[in-house]
Amino acid sequence: MKKALIIVDMLVDFVDKKGALYCGESATRIIPRIRRLIQNMRKQGAAIIYLADSHEPDDREFELFPRHCVKGTPGAQVTSELKPLPADYVVLKTRYSGFYNTNLDEVLKEVSPDEVHIVGVCTSICVMDTVSGLRSRDYKVVVHSDAVADFDLEAQQFALKRIEEVLGAQVI
Ligand SMILES: [Zn+2]
Repeated sequence: MKKALIIVDMLVDFVDKKGALYCGESATRIIPRIRRLIQNMRKQGAAIIYLADSHEPDDREFELFPRHCVKGTPGAQVTSELKPLPADYVVLKTRYSGFYNTNLDEVLKEVSPDEVHIVGVCTSICVMDTVSGLRSRDYKVVVHSDAVADFDLEAQQFALKRIEEVLGAQVI
């Protein structure tokens, strides 16, 4: 079975205590879990796909959130513990969904996975919106509940429930 693993926004500005939009302890806590999952997936021959927020300095998203992950800055880099390898895919995005104005669709068509696993931050924002895009394209999706995080725990619980019951992804 061909698998793909999507790692959402595990970037310095979100997961480092000094980051511009730090998602909190829970985001730091999932790093070793994601690391193990990446190793495990590599052994199974899975495609590893990083989604990474990458904004222009004047992006209108900054009307809603503090300025973060500005293209080319250290804050927009994947956290050093989860660095991509040259064979991995890195898909830059400017909005919550990994599909909006990106080549994620093409990447997935190329990989043609039977199952897409997803981890990262934030559960109720970019993870949920990307799962929605995956499910709209009929991919089988598995969300690892111990490897996603959110600064708002209540929002995370709602998101996981919606991801499972409304979007039809498997939450493990
Ligand atoms: Zn952003």
